[in-house]
Amino acid sequence: ARLLTSAFFGAWIEEAARSVRAERDELTRLDAAIGDADHGTNLDRGFTEAVRALGDRRPATPGAVLVLVGSTLIRKVGGASGPLYGTAFREAGKALGEAPEVSPADLAAALAAGVAGVRRLGSAAEGDKTMVDALAPAAEALTAALAGAVREGPGADGAPEAGTPAVGRDGHPSAPEDGRDGHPGAPVDGPAGAAGPDGRGLAAALAAAAEAARAGAEATIPMPARKGRASYLGPRSVGHQDPGATSAALILRALHTVAAR
Ligand code: ADP
Ligand code: MG
Ligand code: MG
Repeated sequence: ARLLTSAFFGAWIEEAARSVRAERDELTRLDAAIGDADHGTNLDRGFTEAVRALGDRRPATPGAVLVLVGSTLIRKVGGASGPLYGTAFREAGKALGEAPEVSPADLAAALAAGVAGVRRLGSAAEGDKTMVDALAPAAEALTAALAGAVREGPGADGAPEAGTPAVGRDGHPSAPEDGRDGHPGAPVDGPAGAAGPDGRGLAAALAAAAEAARAGAEATIPMPARKGRASYLGPRSVGHQDPGATSAALILRALHTVAAR
């Protein structure tokens, strides 16, 4: 199995910081609609500081990397999301213990522990229009993708269109010049069903987690908010994507990005 070092986790945080920086104004725009227009700047400040803290003193273990990131986010982000993301990373780091390298299954357990920490602190359930709506399905998807690959082998990871005949989406045979061989839905990480306990399998499982987070964030649009500032708006929060669910999806996409390198 592919083992993940503190360098991998440091690369994740750097990629998350890049992505949060790139989407900062969009996150703030979402928070302007149903909150106080600070989510993008809050998170950009926190992740920038987390990257700096890791650069000053890169901890030797994955667990210590995540605990340092969490502590930095708690100190620097503020608002509701600072303590929540900070707790997520700290709990995930504690779950990894002091091992110098961790497995994909350890990563899945750590993500689940992080989500449990967010739920405990914020007492939000799925459907309340918060970051939990992106984080919880991502943690479940990661665990399921890795477990499915181990139990049932290739093809068991729920990848779309595995085993379908070589026809295009419209049901007609692919044109001969179609180099993708009639599998438009195949994941970019490799052939459908590539999830196994190796590096490629981890990337495929994280692709499923990132997609679950993206879909979970999008699903917050029709929800009325029941937690956080947006809940003050009641039904007027309907029709807007939750900023924290959106940033959670970015952070999980960053994890897939570094695993796919
Ligand atoms: P603030 O609302 O204090 O300005 P941010 O704008 O940084 O903080 O973060 C807002 C996000 O925090 C929301 O979009 C939501 O996803 C998340 N959030 C707020 N309250 C909770 C809660 N109780 N549980 C989980 N997530 C929450
Ligand atoms: Mg805000
Ligand atoms: Mg605020």
